[in-house]
Amino acid sequence: MANSSAYALEGPKWPTQTVTWSFAAGDQFSNAIGTAYQGTIEQALARWASVSGVNFVQVADSSDPSQAPDIRIGFSTLNPGPTSEIGDTTFSYTAGAGGSQSFLPSVLVSLEDPAQDPLLADSGGGFTYQGYATTLYQTALHEIGHALGLAHSTDPNAVMFPTLGPSNSDLDATDIAGAQALYGAPAPAPDTLVVTMAEDAWQGDAQFIATLDGNVIGGPQAVTASHSAGDAQNFTFQGNFGPGPHELAISFINDAWGGTSSTDRNLYVNGLTYDGANVPASSASLWTNSTAYFQIPVTAHAGTAV
Ligand SMILES: [Zn+2]
Repeated sequence: MANSSAYALEGPKWPTQTVTWSFAAGDQFSNAIGTAYQGTIEQALARWASVSGVNFVQVADSSDPSQAPDIRIGFSTLNPGPTSEIGDTTFSYTAGAGGSQSFLPSVLVSLEDPAQDPLLADSGGGFTYQGYATTLYQTALHEIGHALGLAHSTDPNAVMFPTLGPSNSDLDATDIAGAQALYGAPAPAPDTLVVTMAEDAWQGDAQFIATLDGNVIGGPQAVTASHSAGDAQNFTFQGNFGPGPHELAISFINDAWGGTSSTDRNLYVNGLTYDGANVPASSASLWTNSTAYFQIPVTAHAGTAV
């Protein structure tokens, strides 16, 4: 945290940790965020939420001041030719209690419209503006940072540094310190799911995706513990899942077979626990790409009052 003083604050912040947002259209926006790009924006929101006390809630878009979400996110033609400015956030605020300043709803986050500067898909599933060393993800991180109350940083590795390139593609410690100065630390995840797995490796390790009640909670991730050697490893997933019941799905996604039993990649689920309680009948052997389903009953686990 040596550089934790490198963050800077704009002044206003949101008065509560719950902040509403929308994919916006109309007004200054030239286009709504297309479905191909919405996941990237949601990842940027989730990233800020994961390191701070902020809780983002998506709501319907509205430009009506009485109904507008706190933060409205859309594409705008920012004409970056002369300025290289590919993101912009505008806000207004009011004086709150004790000299504090609070944002007013309808903070507008504008990201450069790919209709003007195309976004090119990169190998990692993200998008980079053509002709720039800047991704849509980091641009969204930067502008959402402004919409939370962070000003430009002097730390060149911070996403809040005014120039966005390979050295500040994600939040760094100073960005996180700034977000926590405004909204506190993230609430601890109350529920813990532990899945014990092993594999038969052949020309690579077995990979899985874990889904709880239809929501992906982990993966793709590789299992490296050898089933034949009697090894196993635990994969821990934490979140606010609730007491259940739940359905866990473990999908084996990269089966390979060379024609013999010793040239075969397989995935094994040995067992699982939910909030410390063993889940019965929770083993499976996956020989081909397939999904094993496990029913997690309602468990009486220690409650937390927060
Ligand atoms: Zn900025």
